[in-house]
Amino acid sequence: MNESTREAALDQFGRRIEYLRISVTDRCNFRCRYCMPLEGLPWLPKAEILRYEEIADVVAQLAPLGLRRIRITGGEPTIRPQLTTLVRMLRDIKEVEDIALSTNGVKLPEMAQALADAGLDRVNISADSLQPGRVVSIARRDLGFDLVRAAMAAEQAGLHPIKVNVVVMRGINDDEVESFAALTRNHPWHVRFIELMPVGELRELTWDHVVPSDEVLRRVRTLGALTSDAGPARGNGPATYWRLPNAAGTVGVITPMTHTYCETCNRVRLTADGRLRTCLFGDHEVLLRDALRRGEPLEPLFRKALLEKPKEHALLQMQVGGLRALSQIGG
Ligand code: SAM
Ligand code: SF4
Repeated sequence: MNESTREAALDQFGRRIEYLRISVTDRCNFRCRYCMPLEGLPWLPKAEILRYEEIADVVAQLAPLGLRRIRITGGEPTIRPQLTTLVRMLRDIKEVEDIALSTNGVKLPEMAQALADAGLDRVNISADSLQPGRVVSIARRDLGFDLVRAAMAAEQAGLHPIKVNVVVMRGINDDEVESFAALTRNHPWHVRFIELMPVGELRELTWDHVVPSDEVLRRVRTLGALTSDAGPARGNGPATYWRLPNAAGTVGVITPMTHTYCETCNRVRLTADGRLRTCLFGDHEVLLRDALRRGEPLEPLFRKALLEKPKEHALLQMQVGGLRALSQIGG
């Protein structure tokens, strides 16, 4: 443990909290069918959104309590101006060991090198189709996204390991599972298939569109035998990984709908408007922003929030239709 660590932050079940996902904006240049309505959402007023200095202050205050890994997310984080400034500020916090970015990849070809130069370690790119027409019909914006181009830009900038997140939807893109998996033969990428979560105010996607990960893996096995794999060295999250024969990369599955991974959950989230959420689902959140702006220490609020972190989420028991979209929570 780092010598500057004070009494580490544990939740009421003894889980050590070392991973913070930071949403830097609730806005997005896409309107993915599983995430955001076409007309957008009621966006947060600018005054409520944490400035980069404030975000860095939160991290600097939580780092001595054991926070080691950061993920910058959104909304779409790359559309917030001067994102490299935030990356640089976070890099300067000495306890922070790993800074990752979740992005839809549209801006990676132009931004990857600057982000790497600012101190970003790695990226997760979301991509739900390899077919240009289908990318547009799922994202409902024609911004010329091309996964291979985005991932190559990240690779050339040294943003390793590169993870690709694919939300699998029955009848919409599930026929591309094999093509995505085949990319791992020649590219050292980690392609992770995510079970669709029918959250938010989705009008067209339902439980019928969820493809269980067992079915996804059955499809991948038509390409060759799979061996269990440790996956990428950095960023152990909820995915389990597999490798096709002699493949350069791996295939992973993330299964929020058919299995929970709450037991080992070590993460909390900071929303763009400065709320600390201790669970992706449910309403466990504490407003840090006002205390921060009054110059009060955040440690007592942080510890209190952790004591309220639930043992597990209730997604499967819940009426999920009413939950907030992931873009608002910082998925
Ligand atoms: N805009 C960035 C992106 O798309 O990667 C970061 C934010 S996005 C909310 C984070 C992740 O949540 C993406 O990988 C996206 O595919 C996933 N996501 C959003 N809504 C989802 C849903 N209803 N079911 C499963 N995954 C979802
Ligand atoms: Fe935007 Fe990411 Fe949500 Fe798609 S999944 S609408 S890219 S925030």
